[in-house]
Amino acid sequence: MQTISPPFLSDRPDVDLADRLDLAGSEESINGPIAPHLTSNSITMIIVTRPDATEEQIDHIVTRIRSWGLKTEVSRGEMRVVIGVIGPEDKIREKPLGAFPGVESVTPVLKPYKLVAYEFRGRHSHVQVGNVTVGGKEVVVMAGPCSVESEDQITSIAKSVWKSGAKILRGGAFKPRTSPYSFQGLGKMGLQFLAEARRATGMPIITEVMDTKDLELVCEYADCLQVGARNMQNFSLLREIGRTKLPVMLKRGMSATIKDLLMSAEYILSEGNFNVLLCERGIRTFENMTRNTLDLNAVPVLKAETHLPVVVDPTHGIGVREFVPAMALAAVAAGADSIMVEVHNAPEQAKSDGEQALLPTDFGDLVARVRSVAVAVGREL
Ligand code: PEP
Ligand code: MN
Repeated sequence: MQTISPPFLSDRPDVDLADRLDLAGSEESINGPIAPHLTSNSITMIIVTRPDATEEQIDHIVTRIRSWGLKTEVSRGEMRVVIGVIGPEDKIREKPLGAFPGVESVTPVLKPYKLVAYEFRGRHSHVQVGNVTVGGKEVVVMAGPCSVESEDQITSIAKSVWKSGAKILRGGAFKPRTSPYSFQGLGKMGLQFLAEARRATGMPIITEVMDTKDLELVCEYADCLQVGARNMQNFSLLREIGRTKLPVMLKRGMSATIKDLLMSAEYILSEGNFNVLLCERGIRTFENMTRNTLDLNAVPVLKAETHLPVVVDPTHGIGVREFVPAMALAAVAAGADSIMVEVHNAPEQAKSDGEQALLPTDFGDLVARVRSVAVAVGREL
């Protein structure tokens, strides 16, 4: 795969383009050694070490397991270290994993999703998007327009949401639209405008990739990829994204169950990319007073089922500007690690989703209220 280094990205010390575009499938993820290419006869075992296990004991366990040709993923919690072991079932079952000194328990992951399961890590993951950490104590606010429409539009919105406390800039350059006659996004030019807005504000950018043919291009610009609801089960796209190292936010399909969402995320992790955020963005129900039904049930369920950070998009979830703030606050109260909110400086002229975009001033008010809720539930902003 060719790597291209556009000159306008040269001012980004955090970006190693060659590294980000290595789609060849690597043995090491950003978060440590991973397990690409799990097969249908692979299983995952979780070794939990004793609180008094020494570093030498842990090193010994990992070295021995790797010498058997099995993959390991080491996660360090406050009290214990969890070692995920992945490989062919017959090979793992014959090994005396429980016999190592320092081991407290050995348990198979019986769920259909293995690498995304909470127990695979035994702690919640942090995902780094540029200089922003998602999944830590801080609730991260992502904001920006639905679509990138011009350099002025994205840069001015970026500056105002940044001032109000947003940490990650959103904006679609490739837009999935219900009608082929609607605005489809500015494509590469939109990505360039996003990069300008990043340069003007320092905010990392998240933008949608719709098609494998655009992945290389979008990877050159994005700090975080977005997979839209309509693509949640585009398995070839998920697999290719899994071979990159870029963070990715996977949005729940509008008729997908929570389990479907987890299984789709498993596609990405199984290719080696553990930098995945899951996003609840509303599902279709019989209710038609709102665009979708934001399923906030998904937040505590996902927090219990997976180690991956959870984002909520109240904007698409309810689809009506005046009701977005209430759902944003509810999302944080429910335990979301991040919220994504659409903001536009002239919603009546927006090329997409103007009816659900907040004005910059309303967004500023919302962030202040989100901060109070975050503090009330033991988080910060
Ligand atoms: C978007 O974020 O603008 C978008 C198209 O979202 P979804 O895929 O959730 O509809
Ligand atoms: Mn939108």
